[in-house]
Amino acid sequence: MATTPSNSNRVWTNARLATMAADAGTPYGAIEDGTVIARDGRIVFAGKRADAPAFGQAEVIDCEGRWITPGLIDCHTHLVYGGDRANEFELRLKGASYEEIARAGGGIVSSVKATRAATEGQLFASADKRLAALMAEGVTTVEIKSGYGLDTDSEVKVLAVARRLGRERPVGVQTSFLGAHAVPAEFKGRSGDYIDLVCGPMLDAIAEQKLADAVDVFCEGIAFSPEETARVFTAAKAKGLAVKIHAEQLSNLGGAALAASFGALSADHLEHLDEAGVIAMAKAGTVAVVLPGAFYFLRETQKPPIELLRQHGVPIALATDANPGTSPLTSPLLTMNMGCTLFRLTPEEALAGMTRNAARALGLQDEIGTLEAGKACDLAIWEIERPAELAYRIGFNPLHTRIRNGQ
Ligand SMILES: [Zn+2]
Repeated sequence: MATTPSNSNRVWTNARLATMAADAGTPYGAIEDGTVIARDGRIVFAGKRADAPAFGQAEVIDCEGRWITPGLIDCHTHLVYGGDRANEFELRLKGASYEEIARAGGGIVSSVKATRAATEGQLFASADKRLAALMAEGVTTVEIKSGYGLDTDSEVKVLAVARRLGRERPVGVQTSFLGAHAVPAEFKGRSGDYIDLVCGPMLDAIAEQKLADAVDVFCEGIAFSPEETARVFTAAKAKGLAVKIHAEQLSNLGGAALAASFGALSADHLEHLDEAGVIAMAKAGTVAVVLPGAFYFLRETQKPPIELLRQHGVPIALATDANPGTSPLTSPLLTMNMGCTLFRLTPEEALAGMTRNAARALGLQDEIGTLEAGKACDLAIWEIERPAELAYRIGFNPLHTRIRNGQ
């Protein structure tokens, strides 16, 4: 369908805006009686209706006083995987130990087996449903990690599915190669050899096909050491790829500071992060991504050091961590509620965590995350009276309309 430039002007008016602009000077960057003007999918004006420039011929949408926020950004997910782990969840609640579950083929091994066995079509179909759940609550950009394939062909397959979701659905998809998620069974006791594979043939194949926007590592006692993490980051940097880390979730190995020394976009989880790590992140501009879904599902008690992050000015993002083992969560609104109830974020911090700061965690802060001229016109329009409602209510979806690139 051909559209002339004048036809592609769209205007949303009679709206209340939570622009989430960093320097707005009001909570949420709020503007009463606001207008958003988009041309060819990009915002050309977001501000008071009285200040709006003439926009010529355009489609005008009366928002009847509804709130408009930036489209939500889920900056940490593992959306593409085979099978599920509901059976394991049930076994554990019937009293089975982790050992018994592992012996019965459970744990990450089961997700790897199911992911390797699945076709691209099957992986696409199951991930598509989870993506639809995110989009139904206003998500316009999502990050998707690999990490359940753990061999070259399967990691390529998972990332190709993630790219296809971005092509075929009206949502932005950023991909991260997480080959260093776990040591696969065939490399048991030889994690160094596995890291050779990750840094060599796997990364070569993925970089050559341009399947990843960033490279991620799970740095933890049960996963990879800081030394192994540094090897992966060095290889990623040599390919010109950004880096991210799963760090300080179960113990403090100094992973966040290590990642900061590589200029990482983000360090994620961070329950056991210390002040030295916080300072290193602040210096490097590395975003702290907190994941209350995993904290909740694992019934953890150690919370990330939110107050220290605030004191040192580290931007805090919030994400679902949607994955089959530790966070089967595909609700950004519930994630915001958990960020507030479990980690004591304010509702404004929670919304910033799924808009402005999430964009930064993906290196997309010039592109998305706030309602400002020059950015993509990704909007969520809500049937609410005040923005705090987004984090306040549980199990209720007030989304009225979701707009991606002005459509
Ligand atoms: Zn994760």
